[in-house]
Amino acid sequence: MPPTVIPPPPPKALKTCQRCGLQSSVDEKDCTHCTDLSDRELHTYLRKHIDEQQARTNLAGC
Ligand SMILES: [Zn+2]
Repeated sequence: MPPTVIPPPPPKALKTCQRCGLQSSVDEKDCTHCTDLSDRELHTYLRKHIDEQQARTNLAGC
């Protein structure tokens, strides 16, 4: 008797937000990243996001 194979869930379709450039599920009506943020908060958020990416890159190159 073969083992029961559980198929993996289908990959979620993603859409790229025009405002913040991040991806969220197409199931979401609004972007999950920046909908609640003001322009100023979004700027801070993206700045932090980029800083974290650069920090990771720096660590990887070390
Ligand atoms: Zn967004």
